Amino acid sequence: MKSPSLSYFVLAATVVAHSSCGPLSPLKSHLEFAHSPADRLLGTPIGHLEIIRAGISHNFGDRLKICVESEKKTISNASLLLETKLAYVMWLKAAGYGAADFSKFDFFLASKCQRDDLSNMASIVLANSANEVIGDDFNTLFAPAAMSCQVQPGSISCGTTNGMTLGWGAAASLSHSYLVSNPTQWSNVSRHAVGFATLSQFVDWTALPAGIDANPLLAGSAGTELKTKYSHLLALENQSFEQLVAFAESLKLAKAVSGEDPVFQKLFHASAQAGDEISDVKFRPQYAAFHVLLHEIGHTFGMMHADNPNADSITGSSATTTLNPQTHQFSTLISSMAYADQYVYLTDDDVLGISSAAEAARAEALLHR
Ligand SMILES: [Zn+2]
Repeated sequence: MKSPSLSYFVLAATVVAHSSCGPLSPLKSHLEFAHSPADRLLGTPIGHLEIIRAGISHNFGDRLKICVESEKKTISNASLLLETKLAYVMWLKAAGYGAADFSKFDFFLASKCQRDDLSNMASIVLANSANEVIGDDFNTLFAPAAMSCQVQPGSISCGTTNGMTLGWGAAASLSHSYLVSNPTQWSNVSRHAVGFATLSQFVDWTALPAGIDANPLLAGSAGTELKTKYSHLLALENQSFEQLVAFAESLKLAKAVSGEDPVFQKLFHASAQAGDEISDVKFRPQYAAFHVLLHEIGHTFGMMHADNPNADSITGSSATTTLNPQTHQFSTLISSMAYADQYVYLTDDDVLGISSAAEAARAEALLHR
């Protein structure tokens, strides 16, 4: 996931206008989604559940292990675990799965989640130090944030200069064996790559309440209520599926969106006050992780970018979606899988998308049993 809102979005005038006139009128959601094709969906959590359900022989056991890397500087282990579970529950519930399915998951903290440990279905890593080694691919993918501000008469515009990538996520992948006499029927399935959600080491990741605090639209009782519910969940030793679903519903009801990076805001205001142009000044953003985590875990569920589906993804349609005439794909911005608002809940489009993915995964598993 890239940070969409940091790219030259701040004009002094527009910031004030947006925060004073409230959120844009909530648009009715449409049937719009993008997810992986059926064969690749089998590597997702729903694909794993469907393989188990279909009784296909597999080497990953009947426990779905999610490794969550512990000991991060700006977010507690308890929050890391809670927010990972919350993201999984949101996607599972939206896909039509319930408490019995969720009970097949083991979420556990480890000081290092090894991506080559095939016993895990996924590893969740919120990297937190600039010199952290998190794998060659990520070391080139993620980069420090840099800010530039340009002064024009009456306004100053600031943005990140490098369109910073905040996270990356992908489903696990599976391979299968079959008898030559009947290639459709799989004799065994094995995991050959672990799924992952990895968040950039160049950000200070914080817990969800900080994102609520950073959003002026959630100031007052709505935000306070959400934070109280969050602390109640955090205090529990083990949160049940139902408790997590109830909190997810509160977030959706409040249309909760995470606030902007306070470090960026501070630099922006300092720059605006001084009226100084700055160029490529490095800084360390501070984000509540949850909207990025939800998005990257969405990728581990096979969801693609709703605003810009890949060529090899499946998209849905409805009368009012935007259709790209070249690619014949439909897209939306009203999705946690789009580079748009920092949703901390799943929109109606997300729900339709993951439901479609679950249906496709189920049919694929049944085909190969
Ligand atoms: Zn993404």
